[in-house]
Amino acid sequence: MTFPLPSGLRALALSAVLLLPAVPAAAADQVNLYTTREPGLIQPLLTAFTKSSGIKVNTVFVKDGLAERVAAEGKRSPADVLMTVDFGNLVDLVDKDLVQPVKSAALDAAIPAQLRDVDGRWFALSMRARLVYAAKDLKLDGLTYEELADAKWKGKVCTRSGLHPYSTALIAAYIAHHGEAAAETWLKAVKANLARKAGGGDREVARDILGQLCEIGIGNSYYVGRMRSGSGGPEQKKWGDAIQVVLPRFADGGTHVNVSGAAVARNAPNHAHAVKLLEYLVSEEAQKIYATVDYEYPIRPGVAPDPITASYGALQPDTLPLSEIAKHRKAASLLAERIGFDN
Ligand code: FE
Repeated sequence: MTFPLPSGLRALALSAVLLLPAVPAAAADQVNLYTTREPGLIQPLLTAFTKSSGIKVNTVFVKDGLAERVAAEGKRSPADVLMTVDFGNLVDLVDKDLVQPVKSAALDAAIPAQLRDVDGRWFALSMRARLVYAAKDLKLDGLTYEELADAKWKGKVCTRSGLHPYSTALIAAYIAHHGEAAAETWLKAVKANLARKAGGGDREVARDILGQLCEIGIGNSYYVGRMRSGSGGPEQKKWGDAIQVVLPRFADGGTHVNVSGAAVARNAPNHAHAVKLLEYLVSEEAQKIYATVDYEYPIRPGVAPDPITASYGALQPDTLPLSEIAKHRKAASLLAERIGFDN
């Protein structure tokens, strides 16, 4: 049954409809996910979750501005789970008060303590390591991040922008280990070793090693899997096959890792399902999918990485808590800017 509305009211009703969220808020057997992750990487996990739980996932793929969107939606936000990459983005969600603490024995048991918030406001779901790509004929017997500053690499190092979040995270970890003054000396020396202007992506580091522009460089672990498996095309396969991969360490620690992760939204209408989704994502079944579909490291102890990833050697992640490292992010990006790392 419909009633004719005066035009003013009709406009009001229409605008109310336009303001409705794109996904239903609370609904039986549904959960609403906002994520910045690529659909191809995350859909296999969501499909598997629905199959095992009967809970449908309504996914909003957000390119940028995930936090801004949830903040703008406020109390009416239909978002249950917020999923993103880089621990900096996860900490930002906490700082903007967009998430709520979760207590879950399953999450605490599956995720090493340094890879989650102490109050359960965010959880890592997979790891990516910041590695060294090197020319195949180089004789390398392990390498530390500190050694990237060694003058023997003058004119031989390639890397992406010093202001990219992956670089910020590594510099912040360096500050956490050695302090800001030592980090400045180190970063200046790394810059002095650059073979070309810092820039491009991690895969271009492998490309430029193949092209003999540089001998070593810095890149994320999963790009090697994407290149070598051929999923990035035949050109990238050549780049991936041209390099050897080294798991560097801090002189007083392990390999720097970053994460993909998630949090339960502050106003989650389907709270119980949100927790179920997170718990599923750290299950053995889901962690295997993370390892094989995106060549990421499982966070769950006992789940093996993909054979390509395993071929780099055994990962020993740095044990400094990511939330500690996150405190130095601002100083890290200011440092890269101050010394003109990208100039
Ligand atoms: Fe990436």
